[in-house]
Amino acid sequence: GEDCMPWCPRCGTGISQHEMTEGYREIDDKSVYLLFPLEDRDNEYLVVWTTTPWTLSSNVAAAVADDLDYVAIRHDECTYYLVPEAIPRIFGRKASPEVVRRLKGAEMAGWTYRGPFDELPALSDVKHRVIHWEEVSTDEGSGIVHIAPGCGKEDFDLAHVYDLAVIAPLDENGVYLEGFDWLSGQHVEDVAEPIIASLKEKGILLKQELYRHRYPHCWRCKTKLVFRVVTEWYITMDELRYQIMEVARQIHWMPAFGLDRELDWLNNMDDWMISKKRYWGLALPIYECDKCNTVTVIGSREELCEKAVEGWNRFEGHSPHRPWVDEVKIACSQCGKPVSRIKDVGNPWLDAGIVPFSTMHYHDDRDYWEKWFPADFITESFPGQFRNWFYCLLAMSTVLENRPPFMKVLGHALVKDEKGKDMHKSEGNAIWFDEAAEKMGVDVMRWVYAAQNPEQNLLFGYHHADEVRKKLLTLWNSYSFFVTYASLDHFNPVKGAVPYEQRTEIDRWLVARTQQLIDTAIAAYENYRTDRLMRAAERYLEDLSNWYIRRNRRRFWKSENDTDKLAAYTTLHEALVTFIKVFAPIIPLITEVIYRNLVCTLDPEAPESVHLCDFPTSRAELVDEDLLTEIDSVISVVALGRSARNKANIKIRQPLSEVVVSGDTRVLAAVEKNRNQLLEELNIKSLRTDVPTDSFIRRSIQPNLPLLGPRLGKMVGAVIKALEEKLAAGHIPEEVIGRSAVTIEVEGETVTLEPEEILVNEEGVPPFVAATSRDLAVGINTELTDELIQEGTVRDLIRQVQNMRKEADFKVEDRILVGISGDGHVEKSLEHFKDYFLAEVLGTGLLTKLDHPEHEKVVNLSGSDVSIHIARV
Ligand SMILES: [Zn+2]
Ligand SMILES: [Zn+2]
Repeated sequence: GEDCMPWCPRCGTGISQHEMTEGYREIDDKSVYLLFPLEDRDNEYLVVWTTTPWTLSSNVAAAVADDLDYVAIRHDECTYYLVPEAIPRIFGRKASPEVVRRLKGAEMAGWTYRGPFDELPALSDVKHRVIHWEEVSTDEGSGIVHIAPGCGKEDFDLAHVYDLAVIAPLDENGVYLEGFDWLSGQHVEDVAEPIIASLKEKGILLKQELYRHRYPHCWRCKTKLVFRVVTEWYITMDELRYQIMEVARQIHWMPAFGLDRELDWLNNMDDWMISKKRYWGLALPIYECDKCNTVTVIGSREELCEKAVEGWNRFEGHSPHRPWVDEVKIACSQCGKPVSRIKDVGNPWLDAGIVPFSTMHYHDDRDYWEKWFPADFITESFPGQFRNWFYCLLAMSTVLENRPPFMKVLGHALVKDEKGKDMHKSEGNAIWFDEAAEKMGVDVMRWVYAAQNPEQNLLFGYHHADEVRKKLLTLWNSYSFFVTYASLDHFNPVKGAVPYEQRTEIDRWLVARTQQLIDTAIAAYENYRTDRLMRAAERYLEDLSNWYIRRNRRRFWKSENDTDKLAAYTTLHEALVTFIKVFAPIIPLITEVIYRNLVCTLDPEAPESVHLCDFPTSRAELVDEDLLTEIDSVISVVALGRSARNKANIKIRQPLSEVVVSGDTRVLAAVEKNRNQLLEELNIKSLRTDVPTDSFIRRSIQPNLPLLGPRLGKMVGAVIKALEEKLAAGHIPEEVIGRSAVTIEVEGETVTLEPEEILVNEEGVPPFVAATSRDLAVGINTELTDELIQEGTVRDLIRQVQNMRKEADFKVEDRILVGISGDGHVEKSLEHFKDYFLAEVLGTGLLTKLDHPEHEKVVNLSGSDVSIHIARV
């Protein structure tokens, strides 16, 4: 079939739609307003506008839109037809020509006119007429559009609708063909001036000006594209599209909307253009007899050999490409005349689609092919592939086997810079792989990619990487913590492991968390959701480092090598080794380093690489659900208590009098059971779980206008009023607190508000400051008594002295004398908490200053200077 397609006259090749979008540039072109004299209407003219004067040689029609308003105006004794909006564009802002007639476009359809180049032989039989086209607008030009089906895609499509002549003027190098008189032999780039001169000479040039517009250029050589009518080969999609849809439905698409996009494309695609005017490429095995037009398609080398009547000896021994394959001619099956192969090669997507067959011996070793076909999994970014690679794989496999060519497809969004912009070398925001690998580290980079939800664009950059590096550091620090103490104690997991039954509760909690991690990981890997996997990694590392290790430090530090200490080593070693086995596919390098040290050095029987280990399997009997709920609740309460402290801007060293917790009975039971641990973690004196939430939290809600406004339109006012009335009555809907959707009645209509459409504002009831999660509320009493403030000050001093002990290189067990002088508050605080202070710093005496301090320092505590001396006893 024929099509009118974008063409680069320099490269001599068609440009696909996809390639075209890459090449738009803004340029200034000569645009002209000209006149088409109407037939049977003396001195009456259509005013037409074009930015591509070279196409005027092929004009066959003028398009108007049926329902637009047009006027006929008087100018220089003549009548011009155009839209009124065009008058100032052509005649200036102040012009007010006489309007002699007003009419709709529909009234003009069917009129005939004389074209600007009817003297050219190629136009001798053309009847020019006015047609309707709904795309005509009043925004630019005259409201009457010049139509040349041989020079434009939309014009070409209109030619089918109106049965217009297609006058194609250019050869493949952009040179005018025979039949265009003085234009013949001229290059399209050179004809704008002579064409405008010719219009002027004929008296039909109304106005010319420079016009700035975005125009497609060749993405390769930057030459301005033209449109050419070319004959191409197509595959008819009428029946095939439904067969392909059936096959597409048998595939697992990720994300699920991929299937809808593919089906949508299949539903709407035109016939598939498979040829390309090139030299290199897949030689299409099509033979068309120029005598009787019989078309033969050759299916194999053997068939070609069988039908060859000449040239086989020159082809033999070569691949089926030009020039060798074109040596072969076959006999026409109808008239017997020798027939050559058509010159076209295949569109590259034909090659891409045939990969599951061409690369796996489909023709010569069917058993081998069966072993590998279909592919388990393919992945590509989705913006273009539904029309390209995914599509052509499906098409080929449907025709050849009526089976899916792949079982799972993961389409992912794009990589942009950190601000969400496309990365370009010219913009200076591109990051090269080598540079990124060097600067951020490849495991960090792999984590960044793995953690991305594939449906959303990845905003790639060094800040993002820094965030991820912190997570890897948590792993590394946990590992080094273990190594530091385990090597001091010569812990050997092969010989010294403590059985599960002899471990403490917190050990068994970490064991259960580890089993949970394995299960989550398996589900995430199986569903190709590495983003969920990496979220699990983050949570686990946080629990491991910030709860298990931190809460158990003393067990590793203590001097006696008892079962309790070995149990801690065993548990931490298991956790680390399991973690690196689970995450070795994502972060292969750091896990390998850790594995070699943690496992290979101690266990000669172990596989020599983490990548040779079996994937861990979880053991259900090690998952103590109650214990998990209990400790997870405690961790949540601690996190919320700390977040409340942050809100109140009270640091953790400042003791507080009271924390209150509300939540469901399971959570409260866990809190009660771990009361002492919680108080210690939060540095608070007392805990209550028997208070109603509204005694320490005041909640208010607000409509989220930026979301609700666009969705509800005019109703938004009434909805806000209804919400406010509900609040005034003192009700906050339970659903709001539980973060689920709320239904309200407004003017007889039921409106559902999603959780994100209602902003919940939570404020502590003074003196409480609160923080909440879905099922927990925690409030801290921020009232500070003198005694609490003094204790806070003493804790600050303890920390300073501990740091000074380290700076002075004292041994952990060294006893010291301390001299402190500061303001009245510091003195009073120390007087009050003297015993506590001395016990914490291993002090034997407290003075205001020492005569022979081994280390001294002046520090600033809440705005006043304190001088500290220390010396060993
Ligand atoms: Zn080009
Ligand atoms: Zn024939």
